[in-house]
Amino acid sequence: MSENVRVRFAPSPTGPLHIGGVRTALFNYLFAKKHNGTFVLRIEDTDQTRYVANAEQYIIDSLDWCNIPFDEGPGKNEKFGPYRQSERKELYKQYADELIEKGWAYYAFDTAEELDAHRKDHEEKGKTFIYNWHNREKLQNSLGLSTEEIQSKINAGEKYVVRFKTPQDETLIMHDEIRGTIKIDTNTLDDKVLFKSDGMPTYHLANIVDDHLMKISHVIRGEEWLPSMPLHVLLYKAFGWDAPKFAHLPLILKPVGKGKLSKRDGDKLGFPVFPLEYTNDETGDVSRGYKEDGYFADAFINMLALLGWNPGTEQEIFTLEELIQAFDLTRVSKSGAKFSPDKTNWFNQQYLQQKSDAELTKLYLPILREKGISIDENFVEKVVSLIKERAVFVADFWELSNFFFENPSEYDEKAAKKQWKEGTSDLMKELVEVISKIDDFNIENAQTEIKGWITAKEIGFGKVMQPLRLSLVGKLAGPDLFEIMTMIGKETTVKRIENAISNLF
Ligand code: GLU
Repeated sequence: MSENVRVRFAPSPTGPLHIGGVRTALFNYLFAKKHNGTFVLRIEDTDQTRYVANAEQYIIDSLDWCNIPFDEGPGKNEKFGPYRQSERKELYKQYADELIEKGWAYYAFDTAEELDAHRKDHEEKGKTFIYNWHNREKLQNSLGLSTEEIQSKINAGEKYVVRFKTPQDETLIMHDEIRGTIKIDTNTLDDKVLFKSDGMPTYHLANIVDDHLMKISHVIRGEEWLPSMPLHVLLYKAFGWDAPKFAHLPLILKPVGKGKLSKRDGDKLGFPVFPLEYTNDETGDVSRGYKEDGYFADAFINMLALLGWNPGTEQEIFTLEELIQAFDLTRVSKSGAKFSPDKTNWFNQQYLQQKSDAELTKLYLPILREKGISIDENFVEKVVSLIKERAVFVADFWELSNFFFENPSEYDEKAAKKQWKEGTSDLMKELVEVISKIDDFNIENAQTEIKGWITAKEIGFGKVMQPLRLSLVGKLAGPDLFEIMTMIGKETTVKRIENAISNLF
């Protein structure tokens, strides 16, 4: 790509960033990095009624956690700043004026009540009211007025908005990098408001002006913005600017495959839809986050990258660097991508297995400390090596390994009934003797002595090993018993068997 790639992620700070938004940021980031371009963060906060104070920080923290930092944005390399639209508001009016001057826009004085009345009237006739070529001449706007008339209305303090004058009877031919050619009849479009009566631009005007001023080369955003594309393309035409390339990403669908995954689905469907935990300052409601739920950022990102994009091979596990190399807009699909919480867990499990025992130990130690267990790091690392293959999260470690640190406090009832039969206690007493006699209690010696004794007695291994497991672990689970015994030591092993004998008979 010869041109200078500059892309932007342009969220509106209206609440926490949904995973769909994170995916949009990620695809922009991957595309920018692949082409040695620039990834811009722009905060689109022109709609003051939906503004949420902690949302911007949340967005920045989320990108940080995901390890996809922006190159330019609020407080960072402000080459084309400011990057908050509320701080650029003085700038937009001149562009609205320019369009009016060129005949691409007009003042509209219709009040909210008047427009409501039109809407109702249309509804009653089974129609939909659209402010466009069809009726604009009959509405309260500047199209039929002289410059003086317009000025005197404005001077008299009449409230107005600026509307785009959509061209009539044209077929607009547009190109989307993912969807190909899109044609639209301009007569189906409405004359969207570009500038509001409160002196603020609407999303459409601010978005186009800023993309132009910030020299954005590619607009990569969610499918929900596809209906705005015709207006945006027309705005570029009206200003006489080169339009950026557009790419509209497919929706992320609910796990059932139908319907867009919404912000509310997290609580309903039992998995997080936000990268980080989020507290709603107004209601105090807390929404779960992937980070706090124990997901690794790299696993989360890997999962997101494959939602709507595929590398064209069977490869599923990608480092961020590999994703950058492999990413290509032409391999982004047009159809919605089904979100799968199970697949997300699978990714986490894969990443957990890839992490070194030392790294995982660092993550496990604070959990142990919280439980009041302070123990040699090497011991914990050995434990981690024995149990990690069964874990999806670091938080699973305790359930999988508590018996390395404390005696079982109870015994699985069903297992006890099945494994602790008549004669088991006597067998276990004999086993205690066998174990007590082993001087150097290492795996090899323990195996030789215990297995030798079982063989000599001519009984099945399960008759001894299952009750032994129950004694040491409390249930029929866990890694190799000889590993467990030698790690907890001879004394503890004997004590646990004796405990079991006195509890299970
Ligand atoms: N502010 C819009 C949003 O919240 C940006 C859409 C776009 O990228 O053009 O998603």
